[in-house]
Amino acid sequence: MSVRVRFAPSPTGLLHIGGLRTALYNYLFARHHGGQFILRIEDTDQSRYVEGAEEDIIRSLRWAGLLYDEGPDVGGPYGPYRQSERSELYRRHAHELVQKGYAYYAFDTPEELEAMRERLQRAGNPSPKYNAITRLSMKNSLTLPEEEVRRRLEAGEAYVIRLKVPRGEVIRFYDEIRGWVAFESEELDDQVLLKSDGLPTYHLANVVDDHYMQITHVIRGEEWLSSTPKHILLYRYFGWEPPKMAHLPLILNPQGGKLSKRSAAELGIPVNVRDYIEAGFLPEAVVNFLAFLGWNPGDEREIMTLPELAEAFSLDRVVKSGAVFNFDKLKWYNQQYIRRKPDAELVEAVRRELIARQMPVPDEAYLFGVVRLMKERVEFIHEFVTFSRYFFEDPTEYAPEGIEKHWKEDTPALLEAYRKRLEAIAETEFTAERVEAELRALAAERGVSAARLIHPTRLALTGMTFGPGLFELMAVLGRERCLRRLHRALELIPASWQVPPTPE
Ligand code: GLU
Repeated sequence: MSVRVRFAPSPTGLLHIGGLRTALYNYLFARHHGGQFILRIEDTDQSRYVEGAEEDIIRSLRWAGLLYDEGPDVGGPYGPYRQSERSELYRRHAHELVQKGYAYYAFDTPEELEAMRERLQRAGNPSPKYNAITRLSMKNSLTLPEEEVRRRLEAGEAYVIRLKVPRGEVIRFYDEIRGWVAFESEELDDQVLLKSDGLPTYHLANVVDDHYMQITHVIRGEEWLSSTPKHILLYRYFGWEPPKMAHLPLILNPQGGKLSKRSAAELGIPVNVRDYIEAGFLPEAVVNFLAFLGWNPGDEREIMTLPELAEAFSLDRVVKSGAVFNFDKLKWYNQQYIRRKPDAELVEAVRRELIARQMPVPDEAYLFGVVRLMKERVEFIHEFVTFSRYFFEDPTEYAPEGIEKHWKEDTPALLEAYRKRLEAIAETEFTAERVEAELRALAAERGVSAARLIHPTRLALTGMTFGPGLFELMAVLGRERCLRRLHRALELIPASWQVPPTPE
């Protein structure tokens, strides 16, 4: 039987980065086995539905390259793939369980449920449940006379359908990542399967769909582990074979706790996939990073593309313990993927970046120069334009600490002499070697160290005190820009070189 897996998000908000990892592991597993990867939207909880969330999920998956074989927007033989369009199926199955004696109607009002919980809490029960014991004192089709149940149903009274969890049973299942897992049935509630609005809860819809969509492996986050015993009961009562189960390790923040919205915000880690897209992360980098968040190929490799990951992926290399989200590592991946991109592709990306920022776009040869010089030094595409803005605009300010440190009394005379030497070089001969030779010759002639010229030249050309090697930088900027900027700095800096004291 061919492998079929699904990513089954609820459209309750923007897709979380942890959700993308779940989708990725499902995708890799499907591709590894030549099976199918399905997107199913679990939108039966109307109170948590968020407009636009489904679009965000789809956009995020496409951005990451996790193309699914079946889904709400691409169709497929087991549709519809949106649970809100399948409610009749769930309703039928909930009633079928009642008929078989594995579920029952319950008519309790919210007040009655609350009263039951309070009563049990007062009696010293810290986690009161609607279960094999308490159900006997509640208003349901197990306690009320058949006649009355029928009357209530016919009168259209509100009811839910609850799962009749057996008493005193140990429910075991094998988890592909964790091994055997066991839950006492005492720990389970008589789960509501069908709500009073006629819609199913997650548990019922999830099991019914996994069955009818012929899902072979359920791969999902650890937070669903405690739901699995309920699902196991449902499979048993329907007489269906459960799919194989695999629960992925929690994602931890670098301080050890769960990577919650709150802890992530405190640590400056974005949580929504959209934030990563907007921050300029490359999909290849995010995918590679997420793949290693709880899995590794068992060898030295760290940089792996989607097809390579799919080839290497297996559930038995997924770890049980939590996986720490190392944001710096993700930035490192981004940098690695920028370095691996062909120059021409980066030139296009820089061009788009400039246009988006309404900055002038220089000619192609110049852009290639910038890309070649900077591609080893940036972590994000936008840094070609933001960190080294001076490639595209003459500096209008000069770093005060640079002026203080490097702009000496004789600097203007030295720089003017250098400018004259540069002016004498023909445009076609304006190479890194040539501008360096001129600088060193001048320093020797004046009996000063080369550094006395290098630092103020950098400051004049870029406004900054650091950056790529000065002579390569000058070659990229070209003769005209260098001359213009030196001239300008010589005009501007002397007047402003008295740095005002920093306020206390
Ligand atoms: N709808 C659930 C979610 O939001 C699906 C969990 C599962 O994969 O079973 O994650």
